[in-house]
Amino acid sequence: MSKKDYYELLGISKGATKDEIKRAYKKLALQFHPDRAPEEKKKEYEEKFKEISEAASVLADDKKRQQYDQFGHGSLGSGGGAGGPGYSGFDYSDVMSQFKSGMFGDFEDIFDHLFSGGGGNRKGARGQRGDDLLYEMEISLEEATFGTKKTIPLNKLERCDACSGRGAHSFEQCHHCHGSGYLKRTQRTPFGLFQQTGPCSECQGRGEVATDSCEVCHGERVIRRKKEIEVTIPAGVEEGTRLRVRGEGGVGSHNGPSGDLYVGIRLLPHKIFVRRENDLLLTVPLSFTQAVLGDEIEVPTIDGKAMLKIPAGTQSETTFKMSSKGLPSLHGSGRGDQLVKVHIQIPTKLSKKQKDLIVQLKEEKASKSFLERIFG
Ligand SMILES: [Zn+2]
Ligand SMILES: [Zn+2]
Repeated sequence: MSKKDYYELLGISKGATKDEIKRAYKKLALQFHPDRAPEEKKKEYEEKFKEISEAASVLADDKKRQQYDQFGHGSLGSGGGAGGPGYSGFDYSDVMSQFKSGMFGDFEDIFDHLFSGGGGNRKGARGQRGDDLLYEMEISLEEATFGTKKTIPLNKLERCDACSGRGAHSFEQCHHCHGSGYLKRTQRTPFGLFQQTGPCSECQGRGEVATDSCEVCHGERVIRRKKEIEVTIPAGVEEGTRLRVRGEGGVGSHNGPSGDLYVGIRLLPHKIFVRRENDLLLTVPLSFTQAVLGDEIEVPTIDGKAMLKIPAGTQSETTFKMSSKGLPSLHGSGRGDQLVKVHIQIPTKLSKKQKDLIVQLKEEKASKSFLERIFG
C-alpha cells in the first residue's frame, strides 16, 4: 500500500465530495492509464495509476474514508477482522485484470465498479443507456419554410411502469454472490492463476433475484407500446437536419436511461421551386412582346401569388430578385430571396398578320438593332 496522502495524490481537498473524488480520479486515471504510457515510462505510469486507484477506492468508500481520515494508512489493508464483512484493502490486480481482459466495456464500467467498492452495493449490473434511434421524415418545401408539427407513430419497447422496470415486485438477495452482483473466477492458465471478477451469472449482476413476476410485463421489464410523438419541425429546416427528441430512443437495460430519438429530415422535391440554401429558384416563361414592351406578371411564391415587374427590353435568362420570399434562416433571422429567371419564348408559328407586323418592325430603323439580335 502506498503511504502517500490520498487527498494529495488525487489533488483534492479533505472535504471533497464523492463527485469531486470521482472527477479527480477519472481525469488522472485516463492520464496515467498504463496503456497510454510511452514505452520508457511504463513502470512510472503503472505505479501512479496504482496509487491513484488505491486512493480513489478508499476515499470513494464512506467507511474506508472515515477510517482513513481518523487513523491514516495504518488502519487499512488488514482484512475485515471481527468487524464488517469483507473489509479489505485495495485489490489492484483485480482492477488491472478487468482492464486487460476487456471484461468491462468501457472506462465508465470499471470506474463504477471501483466506486461501488467492497461495500456490498448492488452495482454489478450497471444500467446501460438505450440505443439512439433514427427516424427518417420527409417533409415538403412548404413545411420546411413555415415549420410544422408532425406526429411520429412509434411501436417501441418501453420500461414497464408497473414494476419500475424491475420485472418483479419482490426480491431476495442472491445466494450466489451474496448480494454483491460480482463473482470472482479463478482461471488456471499456463502462466499461472488468474483471478477475474465478473457479473454474477445467477442474478446477472443485480445482486438479487426475483421471487415473483410482474403481471404486466411478465418479468420482461419492458413492454411494447404504441406511441405517438409530436415533433416540432422548425422553419428553415434543411435536408439532413437531425432533430433530437430526448429519451425517446431505445429503452436502457438494467434501468439505464433511454437513448434519444433522432428525426432525420429529408426534403421532398418541389414541383415549381428549387431550393438553394435559403433562396428559392424559379424559371418563368416570358413572351417576346412582354420582354420587348415590359409587363407586370403574376408569379408563384411560397407565400402565394405575387406580382413581378418586367422592365421593357428584358433579355432572356435575366434573373429578378424578389426579396424575402425565400426560406427563413434556421439559425439567424430574416428570409432568403426568390430568384426568378425569365426565359423568353420566341414564337414559332405566326399568322400572316403577325408576320407582316414583324417584318414591318424589322424595317423600322429604331428597332433594327434589337430585332436583328433576335432574328439574326
Ligand atoms: Zn448473484
Ligand atoms: Zn413489469
